[in-house]
Amino acid sequence: MRQGHNHNHRQYPRQTKPTRPIKTNRAPRRIFLFAICVSIIVLGVFIVNAFRQGQAAYDNYSNSGYTASPSPRHPLNAGGYSQYNSDNSQYNGHSPQTLSFNELADISNDLLLLVNPDYAVPPHISGNLVRISGYVRALNPAAILRDDALTHLRAMFDSAENYGFTQFRVTQAFRTHEYQQNLFEVMGEGGLAAPPGHSEHQVGLAVDISYEGVNIGNSVQGDWLMANSYRYGFILRYPEHKTEITGVPFEPWHYRYVGLPHAYYMTAYDLVLEEYIQLLQQESELTVRLNGVTYTVRHVSADETIVIPEMYSFTASLDNTGGIIVTMWPN
Ligand SMILES: [Zn+2]
Repeated sequence: MRQGHNHNHRQYPRQTKPTRPIKTNRAPRRIFLFAICVSIIVLGVFIVNAFRQGQAAYDNYSNSGYTASPSPRHPLNAGGYSQYNSDNSQYNGHSPQTLSFNELADISNDLLLLVNPDYAVPPHISGNLVRISGYVRALNPAAILRDDALTHLRAMFDSAENYGFTQFRVTQAFRTHEYQQNLFEVMGEGGLAAPPGHSEHQVGLAVDISYEGVNIGNSVQGDWLMANSYRYGFILRYPEHKTEITGVPFEPWHYRYVGLPHAYYMTAYDLVLEEYIQLLQQESELTVRLNGVTYTVRHVSADETIVIPEMYSFTASLDNTGGIIVTMWPN
């Protein structure tokens, strides 16, 4: 009884509260809330789908589907330069070798493939895709990346930890053509997503990186990556002052693995991949000194052959514009 009395008593002040804002204001608010709910559901479906696609892509790769073969495409056994090492298609020559464009194309590691609005992802790409969880922090546990890029990405993140940057995280890695298509449709023409067939993410060599889930643009973490990524073979692919050349807006989060000594040279001379390949086409040969090693980087056209000197190691990569870039260094 007393409780009932108290209850009634307590209700009294509530009824004297000012009435809510006039009803006409509530309709837009409901529509707004409804729109938010719909957006959350759409986003949720998209994320789940992305996760599934990552998983499916990994399974496809495990069963061979996408790549022509694990790189190199056709391991060459004749001629003394066939020693294939685990760092993806590096060959050690013991005697001078003359190699044609086609022979080089067969052993391309594809690290320097140019993929941009003008050059589409080729149908076959070298490399082994591996799941990145367990190696580096990732938003999507099913995310996959080329194994050589992952090895160096991990080294980069490990090094960052020595500077106190412990929360770098991969937000995007390899994407299938279908995923890129969905993304493009969601983002719309002129959005940040490249059209399907024109995203570096489809090559398995690009990563989007965040810090504690936050955009690294204008942050000390972003600055650290910009200053140090080349040491690990990565380049900031779409710098702010190169948008006219790349055709892509500034993306402080997007890094591309090209390997050394290329990342070093491009960073030292402030070149994006488009400019680097163009320079190699013009100069035909560059010399890069790094960590006491002198590398010769040579552009080879379709009708050319190249002589690998005695006691040199080398790698080759198609550039996706009709040439091959050969990197040689003394054993
Ligand atoms: Zn990206």
